[in-house]
Amino acid sequence: MAKKQFKAESKRLLEMMINSIYTQKEIFLRELISNSSDAIDKIYYRALTDDAIQFNKEDYYIKIEADKDNRILKITDTGIGMNKEELENNLGVIAQSGSFAFKKETEQKDGHNIIGQFGVGFYSAFMVADEVTVVSKALDSDEAYTWHSKGADGYSIKPAEREAVGTEITLKIKENTEDEQYDEFLDEYRLKTVIKKYSDFIRYPIKMDVTTRAPKEDNEEEFDEFTEEQTVNSMVPIWRKNKSELTDEDYAAFYAEKRYGFDKPLKHIHISADGAAVYQAILFIPESTPFDYYTKEYEKGLELYSNGVLIMNKCADLLPDYFSFVKGMVDSEDLSLNISREMLQHDRQLKLIAKNIKNKIKSQLVSMLKDEREQYEKFYESFGRQLKFGVYNDYGMQKEELQDLLLFTSSNEKKLVSLDEYVSNMPEEQKYIYYAVGESVDRIEKMPQTELVRDKGFEILYFTDDVDEFAIKMLMKYKEKEFKSVSSGDLGIEADEQDQQAEEKGKEHKELFEAMKEILEGKVKDVKASKRLKSHPVCLTAEGDVSIEMEKILNAMPN
Ligand code: ADP
Ligand code: MG
Repeated sequence: MAKKQFKAESKRLLEMMINSIYTQKEIFLRELISNSSDAIDKIYYRALTDDAIQFNKEDYYIKIEADKDNRILKITDTGIGMNKEELENNLGVIAQSGSFAFKKETEQKDGHNIIGQFGVGFYSAFMVADEVTVVSKALDSDEAYTWHSKGADGYSIKPAEREAVGTEITLKIKENTEDEQYDEFLDEYRLKTVIKKYSDFIRYPIKMDVTTRAPKEDNEEEFDEFTEEQTVNSMVPIWRKNKSELTDEDYAAFYAEKRYGFDKPLKHIHISADGAAVYQAILFIPESTPFDYYTKEYEKGLELYSNGVLIMNKCADLLPDYFSFVKGMVDSEDLSLNISREMLQHDRQLKLIAKNIKNKIKSQLVSMLKDEREQYEKFYESFGRQLKFGVYNDYGMQKEELQDLLLFTSSNEKKLVSLDEYVSNMPEEQKYIYYAVGESVDRIEKMPQTELVRDKGFEILYFTDDVDEFAIKMLMKYKEKEFKSVSSGDLGIEADEQDQQAEEKGKEHKELFEAMKEILEGKVKDVKASKRLKSHPVCLTAEGDVSIEMEKILNAMPN
């Protein structure tokens, strides 16, 4: 039997596309600007191989004009244009992408910047317009044509008058309804914001006539209005610039402009990766903890760009939870986007980039710890707790990744030390890494349990954060040394002699101890002669794995 072609109800298909692909109406502007940028790119690529074509950068731009009174929004470009056939094929056939075909045809080694691929973006104009008119003149053609459509009903193509090569798209913006607002897409300021948000790094100027009002010089009551053409986009993204051309101030300005935080960045990481994953990124370690950081409201993630066009505001998959404090952006050419270009297919490429980024952050922190101790401690004060949570919530290799980044206050001068520093400080006879848990350093210092260990000249790590001991229990060991709470029953430093003494004392006062135990019934498990007390009469110790402090926390947790 002969195979049959699928048929599609194109009217329905178009309606579906217009109304269900995109989550936000404002995206239409991103799509139309991207098309214009592609059209200019095509002239640029043609000029590379065709001597007859000159490419003077100044001649190429995109212009956005809004006419509030007539509800008209116009997008004009000086790109390659479309002839009659191309209008028919590219704007008349859903899911036909001239740009994708162009990319395939001219497969260039240095990678294309062409954005289009799915052949649906153009129709997003119908989300905000009930009438779209395209006047276009192609580079290779002497005639211009008009394509006109009111959406699902179809389109018409007619000859038109137009001198210049390029395309002009006129949208008749919809009237507001009870539920939907469209006026905003005629508002100069709003349009500028949308352009900045999605299209700031389009490589050609996006121009707008911007009207400014200023009080008259001689009469402050009255205003002078003047209109001038401005370029709205920044064009060259800072991440495509050479690191050596950029100063700390440039990065800080980018951080502020992007509103990554209201503080200053403590550190930036500028990546230009050319390996298995090709991408650029600028990452920041903020200086202070965002107010909602340790709450459920905090959303981690990096901005994700594809070829300089914003795809996602907060791509969570790019950051592990334990580095959720990192801010910044990633731009990559080879992401597999879904059809709305608002989301990604979960692909290998993204995973690769995420892994790469994680390693870069890790090594940045490691080198900060090594070479810029003061900065690292500042960082640690803001986000150290998150690293400890990371160790505690260990999945796979996570704790190994993070253990070298931990710091704790030490009994030695109350300075912060890393586990590595602690272990290299250990005298030979010391078997364990000792720690003491308490509300504050001062409180811990007064604990009788710390006496014997300190007398021995051994350092103690002071755990003042709820999560500290939980994290350490996950680690169990560091460089083959086990962790031991100073409150545990057996400290591993009592001499045999002391053992014997304690045992004898225990026998001697057996009745007293049993009486005490009876009085404290249900509150303690046993009363024993201590092997470790010096100046204090009594102390509490824990048996087994759960320390007294952990028990307190566990008891306080809601069930
Ligand atoms: P995509 O950009 O993914 O290809 P679109 O629906 O946005 O899909 O556009 C379809 C096609 O129409 C483009 O591939 C391109 O060939 C053509 N096109 C759209 N806008 C323009 C323009 N401003 N100038 C020249 N060609 C355009
Ligand atoms: Mg497009």
